[in-house]
Amino acid sequence: MAFAITCPLCRHRIADLSERCPSCGGDLAALAGLVDLADRHFNDAVRAARVGRWNTSAEHLAVTLALNPADAEARQLLTKVRYHQDPKTLPNRLWHKARIRLPYGERLPAQLPREAELRRFLDNAARRLAARRSTGRVP
Ligand SMILES: [Zn+2]
Repeated sequence: MAFAITCPLCRHRIADLSERCPSCGGDLAALAGLVDLADRHFNDAVRAARVGRWNTSAEHLAVTLALNPADAEARQLLTKVRYHQDPKTLPNRLWHKARIRLPYGERLPAQLPREAELRRFLDNAARRLAARRSTGRVP
């Protein structure tokens, strides 16, 4: 995967990322670690897509793109993966995942609410949040 990287210290464009910037000699180990992580997630995404695990692939691509938004290859693959993702089950899966991962997620309804209910739920939550902010309490 081709990365367009500039040294965060001297802004010099780097063709091959190594531990030190060839221009200023700055320590780029942390940056190299991030690139390595993005690469690993991209490879996992490709592997998952090959066996039709579209949601898993999409998750790995989301991480890849969070680490490197300019990754055209990952973007391209994500477009293909999205095409294959089941539009009927995906929202429910994401809802289920949100309930598990979010703080206080267990307070969310167990099933994905229908659109009208969801809108009411979000409006109420926004109102509560605004009320709390106006009383000066940290939400
Ligand atoms: Zn540099």
